[in-house]
Amino acid sequence: METFPTAEQLKTWDRAHYWHAFTQMAEYEPFLIERAEGCVFWDSDGREYIDGVSSLWCNIHGHRHPKIDAAIRAQLDKVAHVTSLGASNSTGIRLAKRLIEIAPPGLSRVFFSDDGATAVEVAIKMSLQYWRQHPHPRPEKTLYLALGEAYHGDTLGSVSVGGVEKFHATFQPLLFPALRVPAPDAYRMPPGIGPEELCQFHLAQLECVLSEHHQKIAAMIVEPLVQGAAGMIMHPPGYLRGARELTKKYDVLFIADEVAVGFGRTGKMFACEHEAVTPDLMCLAKGITGGYLPLAATLATDEIYNAFLGSYVESKTFFHGHTYGGNPLAAAAALATLEIFEEERTLEKLQPKIARLAEHLARIARHPHVGDARQRGFIAAIELVRDKASKEPYPWTERRGHAVCESALREGVWIRPLGNVVVVMPPLAITMEQLDKILFAIERGIEKATGAAFSDSRTSSPQCSCEF
Ligand SMILES: *Cc1c(COP(=O)(O)O)cnc(C)c1O
Repeated sequence: METFPTAEQLKTWDRAHYWHAFTQMAEYEPFLIERAEGCVFWDSDGREYIDGVSSLWCNIHGHRHPKIDAAIRAQLDKVAHVTSLGASNSTGIRLAKRLIEIAPPGLSRVFFSDDGATAVEVAIKMSLQYWRQHPHPRPEKTLYLALGEAYHGDTLGSVSVGGVEKFHATFQPLLFPALRVPAPDAYRMPPGIGPEELCQFHLAQLECVLSEHHQKIAAMIVEPLVQGAAGMIMHPPGYLRGARELTKKYDVLFIADEVAVGFGRTGKMFACEHEAVTPDLMCLAKGITGGYLPLAATLATDEIYNAFLGSYVESKTFFHGHTYGGNPLAAAAALATLEIFEEERTLEKLQPKIARLAEHLARIARHPHVGDARQRGFIAAIELVRDKASKEPYPWTERRGHAVCESALREGVWIRPLGNVVVVMPPLAITMEQLDKILFAIERGIEKATGAAFSDSRTSSPQCSCEF
């Protein structure tokens, strides 16, 4: 009989063979997660952790949700995989229909792929080909406009529109050029610009670039409301709507990358809903299967779709596809995920958790080294700074955010930083009690990582959760 390897053996093999994503392997310490239930999981030594990062921003209803588990098992009894190249499957069809029912009005077609980055690649290629096949062809439209510090995934097209120096600079020789406007950052505003003028200031900048280059721009791509990997940069209200209107005015397609903010993260199903925006193309991934299986979708309008229709010999076909795009097991998980939103009234039940998170952040913001404790729906970011008044950051090499997360991990709370920014992104299904635990663990982590105490020491006691 085969014996299961011990945790020690596995850790040795992990070091020997497994090259982990976004990980400095020379410093990697194996961290083996063996099972999970709801919003907690256990490592190979049986230690329990709260999942404070939604297993990297994708888990929604918790782990091992009975309904999602059952949906995948039922699909397994029918068929595990069907290609989307010239063939279809009932589960994928039902998912496409459901996505269009809940998407911003005007989006009508779903192109499936398998990851956020591929959903973005699809949107980039579709928009280019669209202009070439437009009733009045515009083949000169080949440029993309993106925001400073944007993150749209790690494949070369998505890296080309990305703007996070640390991740993207190395690959410069391989990238296509992108036009860029600065990110409208409500914390670090341009000199002389106040919160009331911020939105107009950035829209004016955007209009300046559009009016000069629109003839050559195929599309603008934006992470609506919150730029995730940049460190949760939060845009001022009105920017999304304004950018949508300006792109329309200048005949530039608008791509909303909702990979991180979609599926309830901002308190509504999609971030675009907050400003009644319908993009021309919308990219979805991460939360789409509730954090179970890889699946992504690029939603398009009829206007775009129709430009690809014709007889085969006209070569208007979208010659793009991924082997596992629209995989039925993943589609089954996604359908169940969307049903749970209704059955469990997930978005309604999320609102008091959003309010509780705000109360925690208001307290944490008073710490002398917390420059900003910002929130959009159920996304929070706590930015540590060396100097609160000048907003001077800690040098990135000091890894202060990492130190906070290390401290929290020892208390059984799993969170991940983005540089000096501590990210709070729990599953939507988290309980109030678990949410409190995450924030109190962060609070103690901040004290350790900065060497400065919260002035009112009572607030760091877990018992005070009853004050809420
Ligand atoms: C994570 C992310 C992506 C990439 O998704 P993958 O599934 O990791 O390829 C793209 N855009 C945004 C906004 C993201 O947060």
